[in-house]
Amino acid sequence: MTTNTETAVQTVLNFINGQWVESETGKTAESRNPADRDDIVGRFQLSSKEDLDRAVEAASEAQKAWKKLAGSARGDILYKAAAIMEERIDDIARTMTREMGKTFPEAKGETARGIAILRYYAGEGMRPVGDVIPSSDADALMFTTRTPLGVVGVITPWNFPVAIPIWKTAPALIYGNAVILKPASEAAVTAAKVVDCLHEAGIPAGVINLVTGSGSVIGQGLAEHPKVNGITFTGSNAVGKQLGQAALDRGIKYQLEMGGKNPVIVAEDADLDLAVDATISGGLKSTGQKCTATSRVIVHEDVYEAFREKLVEKVKALKVGDGLESDSWMGPSVSEGQLNTVLSYVEKGKEEGAKLLCGGNRSVEGSNAKGYFVEPAVFDEVTPDMAIAREEIFGPVLALMKVSSFEEALELANDSEYGLSASVFTTNISKALSFINDMDAGLVRINAESAGVELQAPFGGMKQSSSHSREQGRAAIEFFTSIKTVFVK
Ligand code: NAP
Repeated sequence: MTTNTETAVQTVLNFINGQWVESETGKTAESRNPADRDDIVGRFQLSSKEDLDRAVEAASEAQKAWKKLAGSARGDILYKAAAIMEERIDDIARTMTREMGKTFPEAKGETARGIAILRYYAGEGMRPVGDVIPSSDADALMFTTRTPLGVVGVITPWNFPVAIPIWKTAPALIYGNAVILKPASEAAVTAAKVVDCLHEAGIPAGVINLVTGSGSVIGQGLAEHPKVNGITFTGSNAVGKQLGQAALDRGIKYQLEMGGKNPVIVAEDADLDLAVDATISGGLKSTGQKCTATSRVIVHEDVYEAFREKLVEKVKALKVGDGLESDSWMGPSVSEGQLNTVLSYVEKGKEEGAKLLCGGNRSVEGSNAKGYFVEPAVFDEVTPDMAIAREEIFGPVLALMKVSSFEEALELANDSEYGLSASVFTTNISKALSFINDMDAGLVRINAESAGVELQAPFGGMKQSSSHSREQGRAAIEFFTSIKTVFVK
């Protein structure tokens, strides 16, 4: 997978047609630990369109035989990859923590999830794929079957560098597609470790390919490539829209999972301790860098003060530090750019008149000075027009808003261009039902944090959060295959 240099820093290669190869550019980039900028996690290839062409050619050729393999045989390879990943779980999780900063327990949990997703889709190779439809002709048989798209471009972000590549790649593979994975540059070393598990599991040459490098060269190149038949992307809205347009121009299928501005409603009858803990976990774990992270906290006036007091006390006590240290609860921002984005939103919040109750400063105590750490922030007196109430920050910033009725809370929760995930805390069944019916979000959660959905359930958003397809579980078959209607006379 890598070449070792004298300094023992790994150089991750591209994986093309079953071989680990250097880019024809001869250029690499460094991946550094956001908790300690002196720590070089590895180097990865800065690939060119020529590298991408080679990968697409290999995938296009390999897919012909791959799609003919029995689903169970494809599944066997995914089962083997899961077993290999299980043996390597600590190494992969540690690399993830070093590369993008989330704490080691979170990284290990994510890797375990990746393993479970591989197993879920391995089993999918044995499940039915079509329907028999009664024909109006008594001498005919009519049914549907599904056919793979062909070569699928998978473009992934850094915030779930194991789970997202796997939840896109595993269904693509099991339904008979070949894959080109273009991982986020902030997490390229981790992605190579995932691909290596599939390689070691015996996946045929060309069926999975890894091409690292700049998003605008490789990501956009995938969407524009004449031999790529589908694009699945998770990341920012700006990039998603460009990729969607390129895919639309070529008439290929595309799937975009993008940003969120996820609300939690705390009703006057809520279990406040549960609501506080879920707001902290949903909003601040992974340094708030989850598309499903809680960022707007809408609280009924009757419990507002009690909720605020408990929340602030607990947030102040959170330990921010290197994710490899066992007492760290929250790691760093992934990059200097992301840190500056968070700090600039904190400034904007203050300028616009919100009251900062805690946090919001760069954390530079002790060894934190070496990384991109920020103290988790809680704002009070936030109004719906403020930037911190409207725009995705993708950092550990909670915006508290007070309301005087459940109807007002729901209206405020829906007042967003995003619609990914939303939570309500209530012990009242009518409020819960009205939230389920009237909240415009792809994930609607009652008495549970906004972040997270089980791997066997559909995942995706409404409004600007998504291109409205769904990932994970059985829903993935809709994107990664096309339906053929068969009529046999
Ligand atoms: P990003 O900047 O959009 O990057 C995502 C991927 O796109 C990376 O592989 C990136 O490559 C590539 N890319 C960048 N510029 C590109 C271009 N011009 N053309 C084609 N590809 C390009 O997003 P991010 O910063 O990694 O992730 C944060 C965003 O992802 C947030 O908005 C978050 O909400 C969203 N997200 C959504 C979900 C969800 O399921 N809805 C899950 C996680 C994250 P490089 O790394 O090389 O730039």
